[in-house]
Amino acid sequence: MTSPDSPSAGPATRELEGQVALVTGGSRGIGRAIAAALAAGGARVAVVARDGARAEQAAAGLPGQGHRGFACDVADSVPAAEALKAVENGVGEVSILVNNAGITRDGLLMRMKEEDWDEVMRVNLKGAFNMTRSVSRGMMKRKDGVILNVTSVIGLMGNAGQANYAASKAGLIGFTKSVARELASRNIRCNAIAPGFIHTDMTGALGAGVVEGLTARIPLGRLGEPEDVAGVARFLAGPWARYITGQIITVDGGMVM
Ligand code: NAP
Repeated sequence: MTSPDSPSAGPATRELEGQVALVTGGSRGIGRAIAAALAAGGARVAVVARDGARAEQAAAGLPGQGHRGFACDVADSVPAAEALKAVENGVGEVSILVNNAGITRDGLLMRMKEEDWDEVMRVNLKGAFNMTRSVSRGMMKRKDGVILNVTSVIGLMGNAGQANYAASKAGLIGFTKSVARELASRNIRCNAIAPGFIHTDMTGALGAGVVEGLTARIPLGRLGEPEDVAGVARFLAGPWARYITGQIITVDGGMVM
C-alpha cells in the first residue's frame, strides 16, 4: 500500500497539493525550474522577480492553475513586505519559501568596488533575511512551513574573483542553520541547496575554455541543468524530507566531496 506521503508513491504524486510556494528569482534559470517542480507537485506558486512582466510570464507557463507573478526587489525590506501581502491576497498564505534570487558582481579583491560588495550582500543575503523574516511570521502562527535557501558550492569552497559572492553564500549557510534551530520548535524546516555550475544566464557568459576547465573538475562530467537542482528542491519541500532540517545539500555532479 502506498500513501501520498510515502516515498514509494513515487514522483507522480501531487504531494504539495494545497501548499503555496513563493519562489524569489523564479522568472529564469534555477528559480524557474524550482517553480515548475513545485507546481508539478501540486503547489500554487508565486513567482517574484524585479521584472514583474517576466515573473507573470513565467507563472503563466507553470503546470496547473492559480500561479501568479509579482514584481519585487527582495533587497528592499518595505517592498518585500508589500510583495508578500500581495502574494497572500492573490495566491494564499505562503507555506514554502524559496530564497533563490541571487546575483554576481565578480572581480579580484584589489579591484572590487565597494558597491559591488554591497549589492551582492544586499540581494543574496539581506534579500533572504527580508523574505524569511516576513514569511516566517505566518508560518510560526500556523506551526508549519518550509524554507529553502539557494546557496552555492562557492560558499563552501571560495573562488578567486568572487570574494563578495562567496561571502554572501557562506553567510546564507550560517543563516540557514540559525533559522533551522530557531524555528524547528514551530515545525518549520529550513535547508539550503548548494548548486555547482548550472547552465543558466548567470553562467552563460563563461567562455568555452572556462566551461571545459570546469567540466574537467566535475566527476559526472557535465555542468548541471536547472532541473537537476529543482528535483532536490521539490524533495526538500515535501513530506519525504519531513525529518531533515539545517542541512546544506550539494548538487554539483560530485565536484565538492
Ligand atoms: P539567473 O539565471 O541570473 O536568474 C536570477 C533570478 O533572480 C532572476 O529571476 C532575476 O529576475 C532574479 N533576481 C535577481 N535579483 C533580484 C532581486 N534583487 N530581487 C528579486 N529577484 C531578483 O540566476 P541562476 O543562475 O538561476 O541562479 C539562481 C540562484 O542560484 C542564485 O542565488 C545563484 O547565486 C544560485 N546559484 C547559481 C549557480 C549557477 O551555476 N547558475 C550555481 C550556484 C548557485 P530579475 O532580474 O527580473 O530580478
